[in-house]
Formats: sequence, C-alpha cells, structure tokens
Amino acid sequence: FQQLSTTDPEIAEVVLGELARLRGGLQLIASENLTSPAVLAALGSTLTNKYAEGYPGRRYYGGCAEVDRAEELGIARAKELFGAEHANLQPHSGASANLAAYAALVQPGDTVLAMDLPHGGHLTHGSRVNFSGKWFHPVGYTVRPDTELIDYDEVRDLALAHRPKLIICGATAYPRLIDFARFREIADEVEAYLMVDAAHFIGLVAGRAIPSPVPHADVVTCTTHKVLRGPRGGMILCRESLAARIDKAVFPFTQGGPLMHAVAAKAVALREAAQPDFRAYASQVVSNAQALADGLAAEGMRPVSGGTDTHLALIDLRDTGVTGAAAEARCDAAGITLNKNAIPYDPQKPMVASGIRVGTPSVTTQGMREGEMRRVATLIARAARTDPESPGGADELGRIAGDVTELVGTFPAYPRG
Ligand code: PLP
Repeated sequence: FQQLSTTDPEIAEVVLGELARLRGGLQLIASENLTSPAVLAALGSTLTNKYAEGYPGRRYYGGCAEVDRAEELGIARAKELFGAEHANLQPHSGASANLAAYAALVQPGDTVLAMDLPHGGHLTHGSRVNFSGKWFHPVGYTVRPDTELIDYDEVRDLALAHRPKLIICGATAYPRLIDFARFREIADEVEAYLMVDAAHFIGLVAGRAIPSPVPHADVVTCTTHKVLRGPRGGMILCRESLAARIDKAVFPFTQGGPLMHAVAAKAVALREAAQPDFRAYASQVVSNAQALADGLAAEGMRPVSGGTDTHLALIDLRDTGVTGAAAEARCDAAGITLNKNAIPYDPQKPMVASGIRVGTPSVTTQGMREGEMRRVATLIARAARTDPESPGGADELGRIAGDVTELVGTFPAYPRG
C-alpha cells in the first residue's frame, strides 16, 4: 500500500476511502460480501501478469507451470466441494459464465424459458437489453400473485407450449428455495437442458445450508463473490458429458486469456468454503436473513412471500408510503447500504421501485447474529421513514448514522491488525 500511495495518491485515497466506508457502515447488498485477506492476497499477486490461454497442461503460452497448479487446485476443490463432475473457473463474471453456458447449450434463435426480470430473474435470463433477449427467443415465467412463489404448473404449461431448448432457474431477487427436482422433471418432459444459475446462493450450497442444484442440473453457473465470499468472478459446474463443450464455450468462444490471479483467488475461497466454520457461517447467514425479515415485518415492512429461506429478503414498502428509491437514498444517508428493488407485479418503474432488497452475507462475515439483525431492522425502518427535507429529518438521519457507527464499531469489517 505504501507503494500505491507514493505512485498514485489519488487511487490510494479511493482504496482507503472504500475501506473506511466498509468499516463505518452497514453493508446489506445481498450480492456482496467481505473477502478474506487471503483471497485479497491472491488477487493482488503477480499471477495477474501471466497469459495462460487454454487449460492446465494445454496452454497456448509457455511458463504456465505455476498457474496450472493454481487452476488444477481450484478445479479439484470445486469438484470436491460441490460433488460436480467438471468445473471451469475461468469465467470473468457471472454474466460471462451465463454467456458461455448459452453458447454451449443453445443456438441463436432457440427458445429459452427463464424467470422474468421483474419477478426476480437476471438480465442474462432473457432481458431485451441483453444478449440473452436479443439473440435468443425468451419466454418468461413469473411468481404467483397470491403466494409470490414460483408457479411450477405455469412453468410446465409454458414449457409444453413453447418447447424451449433450455430452461433456467435461479434468480437475483427470489428469497425462497427453488425445487430443482421439479424443474428437472419439467425439462425432461420437453427434452430441454436445465441450467441452474446459482450466482446468489452457491455459497449457501457450499456451506450445506440449502439443497444443492448439482445433482439435478445439466449445468450450474454461478458467481464466486456473493455468499461464497471469493473474488469477483464466475464459475461453471457441469456433467462430464458436457465438459468439453463448456470449456470450449468459455475459451476460445467467449473469452481470451483467463485472469489467473482471480482463478487463484477462487481456489483460495473454495478452500475456505470447505472448512467446518464455513458451514456455521452459511447457516448463520440464513438465520440472520430470517431475523432481519421478521424485524422488518414487525416495523410494518412486508417481506415478499412472507419471509426467506436464503441470504436475502425482498421487502414490499407500499404500506409505508415510501418508495424503494427514497428508502435506498435515506438509508444511504444514514450509513446503511442496500438497494431498491422491484417487487413482483410492481406498479412503480424499476428506477423507483416499491421495494428494497436486503442481504446478510457481509454482516454475518462481521460476526453479527439475530440480536443485531433486530437492531438493524429498526435502523432501516427509522431511516426509510425519515424524509431529509422534513423538519428535523436531517438531524434524525445523523442520529441514525451515529447508531450505525456504534453498532459496526463492535463488529468491524477488516479489523485493524
Ligand atoms: N446471475 C444472477 C442470478 C445474478 O444475480 C448475477 C449478478 O448479480 C449474475 C448472474 C451476474 O453476475 P456478474 O455481475 O458477476 O456478471
């Protein structure tokens, strides 16, 4: 760091500013976490220098003996941890992993059945502004208006009507367990591939806190930086019979040289996730999300679907009269970082939204438990209800920020020393 401050004081200031932000506030973005110093060390290593197009033992460059070891270790750890027949650690991100999975499984113009974006799906699941909606024919399934759960009968009806080549489950803002076996049955009935996008919850699978999609899916794509607590990046798990197609779809079809520092950092995260304390962590993430959802419900903020089985809760704010955008901005002013989120059948535009999404991976890494989640729920509710323009509003947000500082002071992110 000394070197960075001398060479580039402006960027050094950004790095320190971000560390101060992490230490000083509550991080409740469901897709974020706080990686370990070991992961950061691998990421900031000289492995970033190495070109290694290809795969271990089959590279297009010399000098790959060391990076081969890193990638082999990572692949072996991923296969062992998830009971997968094959693993590819090279996707640069979750979106890149999904692009490669499409490339391996379908042809442009093919029909793909996946969850609608406004109901919790991801951009890469068929949005018109994404390759998935432009190059493929997307058909979307929704959640039921009464239960806010996936309607498996609707999924089956759509599959029978549209005969997709690929069915995708896994979402960005769905708080409940997904019935992978049911999806498998539907995929088999129409002879479609089943891809599970486990970006959000693969860390819970690693920690045995929720059931695994691996036995049911042809391909599982994921990110490595959410509950799994690794570096920013992607990963693909699949059956041996699809291994060669997946590997070719990642390189050379959709990517060039892998980011070997990131591959090594993924290997470190996979080793960490195989330790017994990671199981305790993953189950605490879920208990914390449930406590947070209950706490928010007690404050008059309704958890969509009534609660959560995972690391995140989606909160419908309509009864409070506050929009998702206003709640996000007010919480931000009080040192609470979360995001506005559309709720199913949302009457608001996405940039306004009627809901917020909260997640517990980061605060659980910091050591918080159910008791702290109840305090966090009260802080969110106070901040969301405080209009900074109202008399005394700015002062109240300042007081909440003080309470946040006090709370995180006991559970510091990246403790000094
Ligand atoms: N798939 C799902 C379900 C996601 O939630 C996300 C990101 O949040 C992605 C894919 C894309 O991951 P990335 O941002 O690394 O491209």
